[in-house]
Amino acid sequence: MKVIRRICFLVLLLGAGSVGLGAWVRREVKIPDVLGYETVKCDFHIHTVFSDGAVWPYVRSDEAWREGLDAFAITDHIKNRKHEADLRLDKNRSYEIARPGAEALGLTIIRGGEIASGTAAGHFNAIFLKDVRALDTEEWRDAIKAAVEQGGFVSWNHPGWKKQSPDGIPVWYAEHTELYEKGWMHGIEVVNDDEYYPLAHKWALEKKLTMLGNSDVHYPANMLYEFGEGEHRTMTLVLAKDKSKESIKEALVNRRTVVYGKNMLIGEEKYLRAIFDESVDVINPEVTIRGKEEARIQMRNKSEVDFELVLKGAEEVLKDISAPEKITLYGEGTVQLSIKGKSEEVWGKKKMRLGYEVKNLLVRPGEGLRTEVIVDVNFVAVEKGESK
Ligand SMILES: [Zn+2]
Ligand SMILES: [Zn+2]
Repeated sequence: MKVIRRICFLVLLLGAGSVGLGAWVRREVKIPDVLGYETVKCDFHIHTVFSDGAVWPYVRSDEAWREGLDAFAITDHIKNRKHEADLRLDKNRSYEIARPGAEALGLTIIRGGEIASGTAAGHFNAIFLKDVRALDTEEWRDAIKAAVEQGGFVSWNHPGWKKQSPDGIPVWYAEHTELYEKGWMHGIEVVNDDEYYPLAHKWALEKKLTMLGNSDVHYPANMLYEFGEGEHRTMTLVLAKDKSKESIKEALVNRRTVVYGKNMLIGEEKYLRAIFDESVDVINPEVTIRGKEEARIQMRNKSEVDFELVLKGAEEVLKDISAPEKITLYGEGTVQLSIKGKSEEVWGKKKMRLGYEVKNLLVRPGEGLRTEVIVDVNFVAVEKGESK
């Protein structure tokens, strides 16, 4: 009996493995916590079969866990109910179905819905709702009002959506001014799926709207992203006190977010700087250069983001040394940065500040984070007759 049981157990184990236990591995998103906050990985814009998505709600919980998310919102369209003929559609159902699985996996799930204005003003997300049914109103403004009355956080979705702006450039309409002035628009998607909207980025900074990056996923996530090749879904990194719903909301209201789309981080300078500084170390900040010889500085990047650095503002230092114009600090890797002396007659210790722009950490549209690689160089002069 015992033997049979053991065999059964073994078969079960092997069976489970062969039917895809391998898929049940969480891939952590490696971006450090900063400034005393947790960097909470969130996707606030997700669809299911309860609107025009192709996925049953609880699958979204498993996907979120597997992809390293900490929190997500299901935001089915309030009006677009593609599967109405096949499903009993209650506007809270997708959240309710996804919730037990999400909570069992330790994820925070947020109740939400997507409001289509039916005008050029486009679509709006409302999250942290109490009852989505109250948003099913005739007039779209009433839906937003209902969301706000429930303490909802409202954001403008995909402002450069090609169906509305064929050139992909967002337009700020009178409706947006109206919502904004009423305090009914709190955030804006700077990145939706694989689209980045520089103008939305600019507006977010100017108008103090929370920057969001969401997947707006309709299909199974693994049909859209090559996870095996290191791709990740577009997400919002929320700098929150913890992963709870309340803390995430507090952080969103106070605009502590960074958008993570492809290999790009977009956000306020102070947050991008904190992430970069926390991620990158110079392993040997003291080197010796003999005459025109080279020294190698090792830089380690603990995050998963490949930081793309371009030399900028290092003129003073470049009188004494040459340094690479471009360098990529590969995610979870250590890279050598080679500097070379320019003279055989320089000696003594000097602090060298190599200015770089991190091109893929966008503090403003088209403008990367400025940083410095600081090294103490001990220059050793070459005596006459000794040089090569
Ligand atoms: Zn939409
Ligand atoms: Zn959507």
